[in-house]
Amino acid sequence: MTFRPTFLLTLILVVVLPLSGCMDSYGNQKVVSDQQEFGAAVKAAQPGDVIVLKDGVWRDFEISFEGEGLPAAPITLKAETKGGVILSGQSNLRLSGNHLVVSGLVFRGGHTPTSEVISFRRDKDHLANNSRVTEVVIDNYNNPERRESDFWVMMYGKNNRFDHNHLVGKRNRGVTMAVRLNTEASQNNNHRIDHNYFGPRSILGSNGGETLRIGTSHYSLTNSNTIVENNYFDRTNGELEIISIKSAGNIIRANTFFEARGTLTMRHGNGNLIEDNVFFGNGKDHTGGIRVINADHTIRNNYMEGLTGYRFGGAFVVMNGVPNSPINRYHQVRNVTIEHNSIVTSDHIQLAAGSDQERSATPQDSIFRRNLIANNSGRDIFTVYDDVSGMDFQENLLNDVPSPKLSGGFASEKILLERSENGLLIPTSEQQIGYGINADLTPTAKASTGVSWYPKAEQSVQFGTGQTIQVKPGEDTLTRAVASAAAGDVLMLNDGVYTVSRIIDVTKPVTIRSANDVKEVPASGIEITYSRTALFEIKDGGALKLQGLKVSGRNAPDAAGNSVVRTSKYSMLRNYELIVDRCEFRELDINHSFSFLTVSLSTFADKIVIKDSNFTDVTGAILKLDREFEDFGIYNAEYVAISGSDFTNIQGSLVDFYRGGTDESTFGPHFSLTASMLNNVGHGKRNKSRSSVHLHGVQVTDISDVTFRNSMPIVINHTVGEPQTSIQSNRFFDTKLPRVAELNSEYENTAVIRDNEVRGN
Ligand code: CA
Repeated sequence: MTFRPTFLLTLILVVVLPLSGCMDSYGNQKVVSDQQEFGAAVKAAQPGDVIVLKDGVWRDFEISFEGEGLPAAPITLKAETKGGVILSGQSNLRLSGNHLVVSGLVFRGGHTPTSEVISFRRDKDHLANNSRVTEVVIDNYNNPERRESDFWVMMYGKNNRFDHNHLVGKRNRGVTMAVRLNTEASQNNNHRIDHNYFGPRSILGSNGGETLRIGTSHYSLTNSNTIVENNYFDRTNGELEIISIKSAGNIIRANTFFEARGTLTMRHGNGNLIEDNVFFGNGKDHTGGIRVINADHTIRNNYMEGLTGYRFGGAFVVMNGVPNSPINRYHQVRNVTIEHNSIVTSDHIQLAAGSDQERSATPQDSIFRRNLIANNSGRDIFTVYDDVSGMDFQENLLNDVPSPKLSGGFASEKILLERSENGLLIPTSEQQIGYGINADLTPTAKASTGVSWYPKAEQSVQFGTGQTIQVKPGEDTLTRAVASAAAGDVLMLNDGVYTVSRIIDVTKPVTIRSANDVKEVPASGIEITYSRTALFEIKDGGALKLQGLKVSGRNAPDAAGNSVVRTSKYSMLRNYELIVDRCEFRELDINHSFSFLTVSLSTFADKIVIKDSNFTDVTGAILKLDREFEDFGIYNAEYVAISGSDFTNIQGSLVDFYRGGTDESTFGPHFSLTASMLNNVGHGKRNKSRSSVHLHGVQVTDISDVTFRNSMPIVINHTVGEPQTSIQSNRFFDTKLPRVAELNSEYENTAVIRDNEVRGN
């Protein structure tokens, strides 16, 4: 009996071989090992054929995969081994035709030469339909110029599926993935986007960092009918919108959002169904939930926990519209059903948000029913910006709040929550269980998304995870130690003098610290001097932590514009961190405009921290973060925090921080200056800002417990949004009072300036 099947198989092989006419094909599978063979195989492909890319690195391969498969016999393009084919250099993938399947490819180590890495069309006349891209990885496949816009995946055509893919590390401008509706052939498309792993996307610092967009405002009244389900959005932090819906008739279902800044936004278009989604903020900054604009949506059975976002980025936001809105502004919320959602341990629910002279159309004919709102603090998390009588509140459950802003339609009770087997908080009381989510809601797990053969780990800045290396004083001992250090290493400096004769390139996270436990400056017995225009240059992938060091600029060249730390002159894709702890900097006064930190265009710091440090005799600024001056809403750093530090005789400003334009897509920049002293700061004749602290377009500012002596004033310009500025409990001695201007708004100044002590002004 074993003889017959073998015989049959041989027979089939004999029949098929002459048809395909190639040595290494068997059945209708063809293995190709170069671009030419691939081209020939695509041309010859018949329904049911499988084209196999041989394992290895394929450089500069612009794959045009065209063909006409059949429903039961698609034409397949796959990797010999899943993950064994790496597309690098200037590679991309375009599909056109019908019933095509692509799987197992990895895009890494390069960037697309066109606007897309994967496009479901060859050109505007040749689209892909009924096709599928599955188990494909795109990993940090970025244009090296941060501002250059491209997209990783563009869906056109109809009935396409994008599933079980792994997209991580988009760092240049442009939406990670978009569905286009620009011609009738791409509308009512019934696409399915499911089980994808959308891995971390770092803060872009401008508009254009969305992870998924469906449609554009222009076609937003058209149905897309795209289903987005069971995807995992892991720290997709590019900007304010994680998912931006700009079309009608979509279903966004059962996706998990993990520590993701921003919201799922119904930006344009009507009649979308948003259900069974789970948001875990874990208290991280600017984590948000769902933002509602437009008509006829149903939003039900969604779960939001630990979300800290506010304003348009809140846990749940219902916007005001613009009367007779143009298509690209804000259509009124109408006929929207919001029911059985749980919003727990979150900070803000915003109703009629964005209410102003233009956005005056309040929500109408909408229902808010059987939702559960609970947190431990007993705080009322609702903010109501306008008349919400057009919303019918019914049978909602709110935790015990002393005097809730909304009372009709809410039962205010004590709510005890416990974590269910599914990992979600639900009320312990039987009577309360009918509010909020169904108790059986199960979040989509990270492991069920993407591919099993590619790790879901993304490198982020990490100090102190490597080896500890001792460095002796001397000439360029430090230079050599940094050059040979690995990411995360800690360089321990012993007391003595370190001279540096070349600029130290920082290309990985590295800590340079005193071997002694320096309690406070200026106790450090380490002195570093250097003879080039900068001591450190942070390059793409680099990050720097300095601890317990003394740095003098006295050997720097006698030329204008030296610095201690500067960033690469070229675009940096990876956001960096700069941490300065218990350090002392002095004699930064060789020639003029000698600054502590200078940055270049298209560089971005996630974090700049200065604590318990001293800066004395500086002819430039301490932090010069003003290189994005084109008013595009781009900026140079997300968080800048200075504490416990002294600044004496600084001719420039302590910080010159600029974020121009009126774009509202970002949360930052953030600035804080606390428990510090400024003595004679900002009086240099080259200090054009005529201020000691100059903040333009910063969104969150906290200046407190700071002594200003004989210094130029704080100058703050509010440009857009609702900036939160607090200047409290400071001492202004022989220093003019802070000036805060509203540049683009006729509204009252929103800055909180109080409890400051003033003397000698
Ligand atoms: Ca945006």
